[in-house]
Amino acid sequence: AARANPGIRGLKAYDPGHDLVAFRRRFGEGTLVELGSNENPYGPSADARAAILDQLHALHRYPDPLGGDLKRALAAVHGVAVERLMLGNGSHELLMQLAQVFAGPGQEVVFPRHGFAVFALATQAAGATMRVAAPLPRDAAMPLGHDLEAVLAAITPATRLVYLANPNNPTGTWFGRQALAGFLARVPGEVIVVVDEAYAEMADAPDYASALDMLDAHPNVVVTRTFSKAYGLAGLRVGYLVAAPGLVAVMERLRESFNVNGPALAACEAALGDTAHLRWACERNAEQRASLAAALQARGLEVFPSQTNFLLVGFGRDAAQFEAALAGRGVVLRPMGGYGLPDCLRISVGNADENRRLLAVLDEVLA
Ligand code: PMP
Repeated sequence: AARANPGIRGLKAYDPGHDLVAFRRRFGEGTLVELGSNENPYGPSADARAAILDQLHALHRYPDPLGGDLKRALAAVHGVAVERLMLGNGSHELLMQLAQVFAGPGQEVVFPRHGFAVFALATQAAGATMRVAAPLPRDAAMPLGHDLEAVLAAITPATRLVYLANPNNPTGTWFGRQALAGFLARVPGEVIVVVDEAYAEMADAPDYASALDMLDAHPNVVVTRTFSKAYGLAGLRVGYLVAAPGLVAVMERLRESFNVNGPALAACEAALGDTAHLRWACERNAEQRASLAAALQARGLEVFPSQTNFLLVGFGRDAAQFEAALAGRGVVLRPMGGYGLPDCLRISVGNADENRRLLAVLDEVLA
């Protein structure tokens, strides 16, 4: 590690929490309840599956490096020019590359505590300095949510980039239109504000607003989205960003030539066309999210507000023992010690059957 560049020395490799391959072998895919990675239990549109099969004749060819068809479809969906779009191998890749391109040694990146883990990783990998803003308190109306006033206060003349997630992982929390608009009005124009909207399609709170509506007024804003969550295509690894054309052009300089593979491009384009499936999956998620939250609260657990497909759940004491006991019974959740929330577990909202099995095992463990 001493030979690594200074930003890399302090990093740890991604830890998924459990060896899921070994778990699937041990419990069988039908028995294991996998609620650790905020995946979509309903899967993608059938059109997306068919589009992949349609690509099998072309596997010996490189894909379209520009992803033109998918970008044109996205441009139509969002009502933006194609020049405002960039595709990534998951939005993770884009979040990493934003710091690499726009921040470096001697410069600062600001993000809130309990923000998405990749924000810290991207900042360190770029060799930039992290400035972490305090979250809203645990007894606030939006407990542990992003405190945009604190984020503003953390910005200095050395700040190049701000990362926010709306809604945020792992808290599930969100901020509303007024807070976002007020924040953007006060951020210096030379600071790039990345709004990670991985869960945006699932947000149905009346005050939730995407930063996509604010791009024209604020050319320093970058919105990232993904096909991994609401579209149910986590396995294909496709995300995208929407930003000012000049900013996209600079990002494109560092993009790996064929960063999104051909079957993935075709599947995502097909998935975009199936709005009925998207709406259906989001409605099921909202129903299950509400009923799972109520069931967990009825068991005396603390459930944080969520506009996503997961719930942050407080156990009132160190949750590691519960997490281990659940895993031993084939229910995989995400421990939160690494996020500084050791009394919490993050529970992805499954389908009705998965949630029922989760609750049954939880009752054994809590007894
Ligand atoms: N942002 C947030 C807030 C997330 O929770 C995730 C996935 N866990 C991502 C980005 C990255 O998703 P992907 O790389 O699959 O697009």
